[in-house]
Amino acid sequence: MVKISMAYEQERAVAVEAVILAAKLCEAVRRDMVPEAMEKSDNSPVTVADYGSQAIICCALAAAFGADPVVGEEDAADLRQPEMASRLQQVTAFVKAHIAEATPDLVAQWIDHGNGNVGRRFWTLDPIDGTKGFLRGDQYAIALALIEDGDLKVGVLGCPALAFGEGDPGLLFVAVRGEGTTMQSLSDGPAQRIHVVQPGDTERLRFVESVEANHGNQAQQQAVAKAAGITQASVRMDSQAKYGTVAAGEAALYLRLPSPKYPDYREKIWDHAAGAIVVEEAGGKVTDMHGKPLDFYSGVKMMDNRGVVVSNGAIHASVLSVL
Ligand code: AMP
Ligand code: MG
Repeated sequence: MVKISMAYEQERAVAVEAVILAAKLCEAVRRDMVPEAMEKSDNSPVTVADYGSQAIICCALAAAFGADPVVGEEDAADLRQPEMASRLQQVTAFVKAHIAEATPDLVAQWIDHGNGNVGRRFWTLDPIDGTKGFLRGDQYAIALALIEDGDLKVGVLGCPALAFGEGDPGLLFVAVRGEGTTMQSLSDGPAQRIHVVQPGDTERLRFVESVEANHGNQAQQQAVAKAAGITQASVRMDSQAKYGTVAAGEAALYLRLPSPKYPDYREKIWDHAAGAIVVEEAGGKVTDMHGKPLDFYSGVKMMDNRGVVVSNGAIHASVLSVL
């Protein structure tokens, strides 16, 4: 029998397994404790689950692909402070449920494995994208992507609180460049191929945007969507679950236009990498608001991109022309 080899088979398998475990950890934190936010130096929130998720995924990547840098959102510098010992202990307890040999030292080391640099081949990880949604009890995502020479090759997006229609929440999106996007339940298979919404499907001609008003420009987003022919009110949700929603054909457009309050904000690669390939391989299109491709090559921040436009492809040109 001839085995048809798939590209990035091992990368995909390792990433999927790691994201599923990290999703279990995040849900366990939401179930077992009232997750509290600690504040980072940029005032953004971080929780026991952000650290635990990064530890689990980095441990798996270090074991399977030791030479690959991981560019993760978190680092363990704060957790290593003596006054944080009980926090680190909490993180370790949640990690230990999945990795028996976890100790506080190892957990801090695994988290710091995510301090790698952007290079020719690297992974980027947001261990909890949408931490504010996670704390509110709303949507969040675990987002992991492999990048080579600036091109997205593999994207795995776990959305533990996401459901379309009936069915238990918890969806996993997986994309490999050139091979399409699949969606499956986070708790069991089977995976199904997904596609963006077709132009004639007026019911799903919706648009999605952030819950957090400061992460975009909701007034402009509303106006642009309307001018592009989308008359329904937006669906607001946290995290890259928005990308999964477009990829699955449950919305036609995701708009993220710069907030007037933070005109100098630059998007970070881990907030878009996994979601972008999931949408592209489902037949959609992702650019910045000027139609430029997102830059996953130059560094952690996309310095030359402004805003993000994600669509089913068919309406992309008309959205950009409105902008
Ligand atoms: P969302 O859940 O779509 O609102 O996106 C959450 C992400 O927004 C976080 O991971 C942050 O990195 C990012 N973020 C923080 N501040 C801003 C801002 N001013 N504009 C756009 N994104 C931001
Ligand atoms: Mg994020």
